[in-house]
Amino acid sequence: MTSATISPEAVLVRYAEIALKKGNRPVFERALVQNLKEAGSTLSPLRIERRFGRMTVIPERRVAQVARRLADVPGVKTVSPVYGAESTDPDDIARVAKLLVEEALADHPGPFPVTFRVRARRSEKRFPMTSRELEHFLGPRVLPGPERIKVDLNHAELTLGIEVRTERTWLYLRTYAGPGGLPVGTLGRGLVLLSGGIDSPVAAYLAMKRGCRVGYVSFHSSPYIGEGFVKKVSDLAHALGRYQASAKLFVVPFAAIQTAIRDHAPEPYRTVLYRRFMQRIADRLAEEHRYQALITGEALGQVASQTLENMECIGAATSRMVLRPLLTYDKEEVVDLARRIGTFELSNIPEPDCCTVFQPARPIIKGTLEECAAAEAKLDVDALVAEAVQGCEVQSIVYEG
Ligand code: ATP
Ligand code: MG
Repeated sequence: MTSATISPEAVLVRYAEIALKKGNRPVFERALVQNLKEAGSTLSPLRIERRFGRMTVIPERRVAQVARRLADVPGVKTVSPVYGAESTDPDDIARVAKLLVEEALADHPGPFPVTFRVRARRSEKRFPMTSRELEHFLGPRVLPGPERIKVDLNHAELTLGIEVRTERTWLYLRTYAGPGGLPVGTLGRGLVLLSGGIDSPVAAYLAMKRGCRVGYVSFHSSPYIGEGFVKKVSDLAHALGRYQASAKLFVVPFAAIQTAIRDHAPEPYRTVLYRRFMQRIADRLAEEHRYQALITGEALGQVASQTLENMECIGAATSRMVLRPLLTYDKEEVVDLARRIGTFELSNIPEPDCCTVFQPARPIIKGTLEECAAAEAKLDVDALVAEAVQGCEVQSIVYEG
């Protein structure tokens, strides 16, 4: 390592919770390897090594971008682009460390001095120094002077990390936080009812973060609603590809059901009945495509259709488990999360949704199952559901970065 600028060689991936799942650990680790591979290999061919409760991802190129990309993968706690030292000789380590610190300071906007610390770990126990000894050895060798940097072990802005391993010694200065949680695919499959709103994409993200592999279903009220709706939900599903790189999106024609409800059911019940049909159709698609649960963006009390009474009416239309990850969230909390995961801007684009079609002036707040059943007795429920399922179009969503 002789040039003045150096590039990262690999990405160190740290994961937390899967380490706790004793018996299942290999299953979780294999899923994480698979998901990291899927996410990273759109940027570069790569190899993954699993060692000592961490993964080392070795891309052929674009290491820094791969690192940022892998920081989106559920199950990942943190990632660092890492630089290799020529050997485990402490002087070699110090040389790379010095270059890294100099580069970081050159890019640093100030103010100076920047607070700094060294954190060393060694899984190679034959290494001649303890971790503490290595930290003390390196400190004076990398510090460029007290006016530029000062050591602060508790609140360091810049942490130089070092991992001494059998295969290589890695150094790093940057660490990106991942979503945490569990690898997608380790805890079953869920079908997300994805509207163009703010909530359901966030609900999808939370389910993925807990290990669910998701698919999406969206109900489209063409011709009352334009094709912009389909583009919007498709864009949202693509944006969520940061967390699960590929998925299916089912787009279901919903206008015939809405006109039947408008023509035959009491006006205040329209929204609740729309939702009951959505659950039935989603249930059928879930059956056919092996999703165990339905997932919605419902939050208690957020709108008229989300009272406990109405959610009971809606949920009763399917015997399948309905997950509502946002049930107890405030709107502000959902908006914050939507911004963080990168769906807020898309959700915020104004685009009518099927729920606005024939919207009742005074929606029912506390619906009853008896009233729902009475209204639906006037409809050919099975035929309407079958026709909608038949007319369903499937899109394959693949994240391209
Ligand atoms: P969102 O922001 O997700 O649209 P919301 O607070 O606007 O939620 P509603 O519009 O009442 O609430 O919808 C409740 C849930 O029903 C949504 O979170 C979503 O899961 C589902 N849903 C509503 N409309 C549609 C649709 N057109 N296609 C698919 N799912 C829908
Ligand atoms: Mg909505």
